[in-house]
Amino acid sequence: MEDEAEERQELGRRNFRRVIEDFVCEHCGHAVKGSGYTDHCPRCLWGKHVDIKPGDRASDCRGALRPISASYAKGSYTIVYRCEECGIVKRFKAAADDDADILLAMCASGAPES
Ligand SMILES: [Zn+2]
Ligand SMILES: [Zn+2]
Repeated sequence: MEDEAEERQELGRRNFRRVIEDFVCEHCGHAVKGSGYTDHCPRCLWGKHVDIKPGDRASDCRGALRPISASYAKGSYTIVYRCEECGIVKRFKAAADDDADILLAMCASGAPES
């Protein structure tokens, strides 16, 4: 019995350390290769509400994060999201492999077509 509990704890710790995660985008079905910082899909830019602070995976909302606008400053894009589930607004830095056309379109119009 004691061994089993210890094993579970060990597993939990291992999961916590595993920060590089691949996932399938729930919006467009794109297979996303995790980099350790990946918090959204590079193809459609939708994300998932899993963090309270960036990267902590501490939120249990799990709602879809809709990209609602983007801005460009100091050489990088920032994407503004609204959670479809709880309505929280979040800002993420765009990743290098994010779709630049969508980012540009969001900068111009405020919301992507889809
Ligand atoms: Zn996607
Ligand atoms: Zn949410």
